[in-house]
Amino acid sequence: MPEEVAPGIYRIELPLPQNPLKLLNAYLVRGERRNLLVDTGFNRQECRDALCGALKNLGVRPGDFDLFITHLHADHSGLAADLAAFPGTVVYAGKDDGAAVNRLTDGPLFWRALLNDMARHGCDAELLRELETSHPGIRFGPSGKINFTDVDEGDVLTYGESELRVLFVPGHTPGHMALYDAKRRILFAGDLILGDITPNIPRWREMPDSLGTYLKSLDKVDALDTALTLPGHRNLVFDTRKRTDELRAHHERRLAEVMGILDGRTASAAEVAREMTWSMRGIKWTEFPAPQKWFAVSEALAHLDRLAVLGSVAREETNALMRFRPTGPS
Ligand SMILES: [Zn+2]
Repeated sequence: MPEEVAPGIYRIELPLPQNPLKLLNAYLVRGERRNLLVDTGFNRQECRDALCGALKNLGVRPGDFDLFITHLHADHSGLAADLAAFPGTVVYAGKDDGAAVNRLTDGPLFWRALLNDMARHGCDAELLRELETSHPGIRFGPSGKINFTDVDEGDVLTYGESELRVLFVPGHTPGHMALYDAKRRILFAGDLILGDITPNIPRWREMPDSLGTYLKSLDKVDALDTALTLPGHRNLVFDTRKRTDELRAHHERRLAEVMGILDGRTASAAEVAREMTWSMRGIKWTEFPAPQKWFAVSEALAHLDRLAVLGSVAREETNALMRFRPTGPS
C-alpha cells in the first residue's frame, strides 16, 4: 500500500531498474472529483506495473486523475503519453520542459544534435555511439506526443485539501516546476531537492549557467515556510533549509574541486569529469555505464560554466573542441 505522507497525499515508489537512482517517488494527491498524479516513472513495464498496482490499492482508476510533470526527464515523464490517452486527463507541465518532452520523441535527429554538442566537450565517438542505445531518455521516454496544459509561476491547482501553487525552479532542467501547498507547508520538489543524494545539475544549451540558475532556485525555496519536502527520489525532507544549505555547500566544494583539477592547465569538460569524485564507489571511470559518463561530463560542464561566469576560468575553442583554463596565476 502506498505510504500516506500527509493527509490525502500518497507516495508511490516506482522501480528504476539498473539505474543508480533506484526508485522514483510519484505522488498521488486525492481530490474530490479528480486526483492529481505528480510524475510517472519510466515508460517501461516495471514502472507501469508498480504504478497500476499502487493506484488500484488506492482505488484510483486510469482516467480518474490528472498529471503534473515536474520536469522533462524520462523517469518523471515516461508514462505521461500512455496515461494521457484516458479521456479527460489533463497533463500539466512547464512550457519549456513540456515542449522538450515532445522533442525527445523526434528521434535520431534531435538526439544527434545533443550528442554532437557533447563531442565538442571531449566525449569520444565510442561513448556517443553507446549513448544512442543506452540513454534513458531514448530508451524510456514517452511513447508519443503529449498535449500539455502549460503551467507557469503562480498558477494554482486545487485537488481536495491541496491548493498547489506552481513554482518555476529551473536549473536541474530549463523548465523545472515545483508545487507548493502554503496552507499545509508542503513542497513537491521534483529533482530540485533530494534527501540523501545530490541532484545532477547538467549543462543545457538553453541555460548558459545552469548551476547559477539552480542555486537561485534554492534561494527561492528558502523563502518559503516548509514543513515537508516531497522529493522525486529517496527520502522525504523535513528540514528543507538544512538540506538547501547542504546542497549549496556541496556545489561550493565541487567548484573548488574543479579548480584544483585544472590547476594551471587547460582541459575539456570530459577530461575534468574523469578526475572528479563520483558517488559510484568502487567503480572506475572506464567502467561507468555510458549514461553515467554523459551525466558526469554534463555536470562538470555546468560547474565550468559557473566558474566562467565567476571569471575563474576562460574558454578556448580549437578544432571544434572546447577547453577551459584558469584565469588566475598558476
Ligand atoms: Zn531529473
